[in-house]
Amino acid sequence: MHTLSNTSMFWQSLAAMCAVQVVAVVCVQWLHARTGLLKRYLGHAVALAVGVLLGTGLLHLLPEAIEELGNHTGLWLAFCGTFVFLFAVERIFSALTGNAAETAATETLSTVHHHHGHHTSRPMNLVFGGMLHSFVDGVSAAAAFTLGPRIGLLTALAIVLHEIPHRLGDFALFMHLGLSEKKALRLAAFVGAPSLLGVLLVAGIGSAGMAASAWLLPVSAASFVYVAAANLMPELQHECKLMRVAGQIGALVVGVLLVVLLGKLPGA
Ligand SMILES: [Zn+2]
Repeated sequence: MHTLSNTSMFWQSLAAMCAVQVVAVVCVQWLHARTGLLKRYLGHAVALAVGVLLGTGLLHLLPEAIEELGNHTGLWLAFCGTFVFLFAVERIFSALTGNAAETAATETLSTVHHHHGHHTSRPMNLVFGGMLHSFVDGVSAAAAFTLGPRIGLLTALAIVLHEIPHRLGDFALFMHLGLSEKKALRLAAFVGAPSLLGVLLVAGIGSAGMAASAWLLPVSAASFVYVAAANLMPELQHECKLMRVAGQIGALVVGVLLVVLLGKLPGA
């Protein structure tokens, strides 16, 4: 590892995060009017994202972390601690504001189709929750790019796949709260901005000593597993049609396999 200079790692991860944000927002704009398509395939897209997140976190980031830091208690404490920390932040946030910190992707459909009353008029809280999450995404991407472009790009893929349904949820909710389409889209794009700050933070830590940035790997791995297991998987649990459930399980497996195959590609 550490074959990359700090500067090239920095520019690669910055470029990748900018691309992730642009792709996510473009997809949101393209998808939001296509409710038929969303209704049919949103669950599959979420399941695919779950597979890619689990695969990237558990099959790439965590093994790299063990290789860099050694298999000792500190690493597992960082992993476990991040998992608990993310849960605590989300729950405290929700208790203080009465809102979920994360917008569920499936909100897209429920807000489009019925007008639920449980979301009140506090979009700024949602923006804050999403921004915190984006910051962690940026840290994850940059930490992965310090290991090499291949694992960096895999991480960027894992981010873009879960950000599309997530940002779609934000966007639908902003529209539901009465914002114009333009404003809702701008706000959904703004939520992703802190990911660039996350990259800057890792670049700063990296220049202080590359060994320190290896500690971000178990943190990234835990954040991916957390997003998959705690934010995304519960959204899939509402599905009760057997064929759709089977399709979603298939998409999840495809996501994991995709990560395995991309990790085996020569070069990069
Ligand atoms: Zn994310």
